[in-house]
Amino acid sequence: MGIYFDHNATTPLVSAALEAMTRTLAEDFGNASSVHAFGQRAKAHLDLARTRLAGLIGADPAELVWTAGGTEADNFALRGIAEAFEARGRRHLVVSGIEHEAVLNTARSLARRGWQVSIVPPTGDGLIDPAEVAAATTSETALVSVMHANNEIGTLQPVAEIAAVAHTRGALMHTDAVQTVGKAAVDVTTLGVDLMSLSAHKFGGPKGAGALWIRRGTRIAPLLTGGRHERNRRAGTENVPAIVGLGVAADYARASLGDHERDVAALRDRLEAGVLARVPGTVVNGNTARRVANTTNISFERVEAESLLIALDLEGIAVSTGSACSSGTLEPSHVLKAMRLPPGRTQGALRFSLGPTNTATEVDRLLDVLPGLVEKLRSLTRMPATR
Ligand code: PLP
Repeated sequence: MGIYFDHNATTPLVSAALEAMTRTLAEDFGNASSVHAFGQRAKAHLDLARTRLAGLIGADPAELVWTAGGTEADNFALRGIAEAFEARGRRHLVVSGIEHEAVLNTARSLARRGWQVSIVPPTGDGLIDPAEVAAATTSETALVSVMHANNEIGTLQPVAEIAAVAHTRGALMHTDAVQTVGKAAVDVTTLGVDLMSLSAHKFGGPKGAGALWIRRGTRIAPLLTGGRHERNRRAGTENVPAIVGLGVAADYARASLGDHERDVAALRDRLEAGVLARVPGTVVNGNTARRVANTTNISFERVEAESLLIALDLEGIAVSTGSACSSGTLEPSHVLKAMRLPPGRTQGALRFSLGPTNTATEVDRLLDVLPGLVEKLRSLTRMPATR
């Protein structure tokens, strides 16, 4: 099957989620809005999934709105708050420069509609400084949006401190927790945020299912209008089988989180230390003390990361050059660029993101083949020794 070190792009489906989804698809086809027994069975599935997900993130089930994944949740948060706050004279948005495109491009879209958007740059090691957010936030700010963990380098942001800054100015706080929910302990109360995005396929659930958690009492306009689904917050017949899968994956994550995090961190550290020791001219990008357990982003001097990715793929090992959305293009990562890393370092950066199904044998296989592949690519390159 090959070795999969790309869990930040997506994760394999947890087998219990697959079974539950298959059963729901085959047996419980009802529309959750229907009054009859078929509909009520579908609705019971949604209620159970909501309770399971709420348990994973310390939320009240009634505060969760289903979405078609992280991108929709991010759009809903930014556009929904923008629409609700426009009339109140707050037309300013603060986001970080290392957000996922789902946040950054939505902010840019709002800017084209006349919103003021401040983009806070990260430090050189990929952290967002709450003082920088404070400097960017004004009495006109409607929303501050800073992600919990970055998808490319894994750095964990001081979300609770940033939320406190936002609240001091009367603004709301959103966090994109797509890369932490189900992988690390996430509690909406501890984070102190008002809105939080998550996505099922990043923690063993299916693609196309996610949620936006909205603190009770928060004014927000719907993104999708139509029927009265989700308490008038998200119109459209719910994708019951996918939501069932999300719920089962959430339950599984809650039960196994601590053990998985410890095991995955040990494997990631083995991989990282092994690469640094065996391949000269390598350096880790981003703060290594404040990051999720499964991610390491390593730059290979005098190597084009795309070429190394392909060489590893030919060996049956899957890694990434950054976010999945920007791979396939040779555009340097906007995250590493925002960190002001020199071009040689951004061009040679590979992301290894691990999951609970990875093994030490797989890590060792990578460590066996990697030095030779890098040496070969360096022998063929015209890239200068120091850049
Ligand atoms: N936010 C972050 C941080 C992500 O890593 C991703 C996925 O790559 C998304 C949002 C988008 O989530 P989805 O693929 O569910 O639309």
